[in-house]
Amino acid sequence: MATTRAAPPPSLARRHRALRDDHLARARPSSSTSTLGRRRDRAVSATTRAYVPTDRVSELQSEGAYAVLAAAQALEREGRDIVHLEIGQPGFPTPSHVARAGIDAIDAGKTKYSSPDGIPTLKESIARYVSRTRGLDDDAVSPDEVVVGPGAKPGLFFPALAVISPGDEVMYPDPGFPTYKAMIQVAGGVPVPVPLRADGASFDMDAFRAKMSPKTKLVVLNSPANPTGGVMPAEDVEAVAAAAKENDAWVLSDEIYSRLVYGDGEDDTGNATASSVFNIPGMRDRTILVDGFSKTYCMTGWRLGWAVMPAALAKKVELLLVHSVGCTATFTQEAGIAALEGPQDGVLEMVDEYRRRRDFVVGALNEIPGVECPTPAGAFYAFPDVSAFGKSSKEIADLLLAEGGVAVLPGTDFGANGEGKIRLSYVGDMETLREGCARIAATLGKLEIERS
Ligand code: PMP
Repeated sequence: MATTRAAPPPSLARRHRALRDDHLARARPSSSTSTLGRRRDRAVSATTRAYVPTDRVSELQSEGAYAVLAAAQALEREGRDIVHLEIGQPGFPTPSHVARAGIDAIDAGKTKYSSPDGIPTLKESIARYVSRTRGLDDDAVSPDEVVVGPGAKPGLFFPALAVISPGDEVMYPDPGFPTYKAMIQVAGGVPVPVPLRADGASFDMDAFRAKMSPKTKLVVLNSPANPTGGVMPAEDVEAVAAAAKENDAWVLSDEIYSRLVYGDGEDDTGNATASSVFNIPGMRDRTILVDGFSKTYCMTGWRLGWAVMPAALAKKVELLLVHSVGCTATFTQEAGIAALEGPQDGVLEMVDEYRRRRDFVVGALNEIPGVECPTPAGAFYAFPDVSAFGKSSKEIADLLLAEGGVAVLPGTDFGANGEGKIRLSYVGDMETLREGCARIAATLGKLEIERS
């Protein structure tokens, strides 16, 4: 039977009303114009004022993809047909043997808390996987250095909180994944954006050298990169490692796209793997390597990722996990073991398919007068230059959505140096990509080219 809370007896209700009236009378701005009256007004309005953000969060911005997705969905609700090229998540399903392992784990009752830094069997699998995929001996990475979290994002955020002290300078790619700036801001660090070179494959190394100093506490690398798809050439990775050692800085290497490398872009890595600071001698004790399941195994919604770092830092990150997320879902971690230990042919087939899609999208974009699109060597993004139309990237993205019915992200969602570019994800099937590129061509075809 439903229970309702009894109304207070009349005398109590009267007393409540009296108290409330008294409170309102005190809070009501005084008509007094005396200094004392004004001061009291300010004090009163301070207690009744709306939420005031702390410094830690006041400058935070969301990921642009969420805003564009919401705008696109609003148009869809009005009956418009929108082609989605804004979303950065694989269109393929989670491999069935991985999904099965997750379901079996739930059926087996693996639905309880696990250790905050990950179940030991998954940490062992990750240690072996990282050793193998980074060209190291099988037991080069110890499970003590592995921290599992709900996605790769905690592997960025929590080590950043544990390494950056207020006032520390942190260098990161601009344009780059928005979480980098956010985590620096929350940690109280000083964001030092480093512009990329024209094709987006790497830092502008002159700018990098100019900004690196003993004040630099951490350098964030992301290769293959979001939003450019760029893969850093080995000599640049080595130069960053050397500068980090010289200036006693940490490197946080976000390698979430490590398996999505095409090996034939402008920065041909030769063996379809991106270079990593992780296996450069002398770097392990100052490197945080971040990777995960979201992109490689199409598991964005499972929320599972990891970071590898020196064991002493891992212990502190574990404490941050204890007091924030508690732990990562147990059955999700069981699925993660199946992903790492099971057959990998699906990953290779997926990379072949992405390569086909990339070649189509880059080709189609470069056929549009006024658009220039470098061939990205990794990830699943194209980042064409549309500055020839004399409009901001935001104006171009808005126009493409409103008039063309195709959702893309402005380059400036990834930092000021993304101006003049737009980001497209080629995760959709060929039919979607064909329609999306046709809409882009038709919409931009109506614009004047202001400069070549
Ligand atoms: N790093 C980069 C560069 C990304 O693009 C993303 C996802 N878009 C992440 C980290 C976060 O991955 P996850 O969903 O596993 O947290």
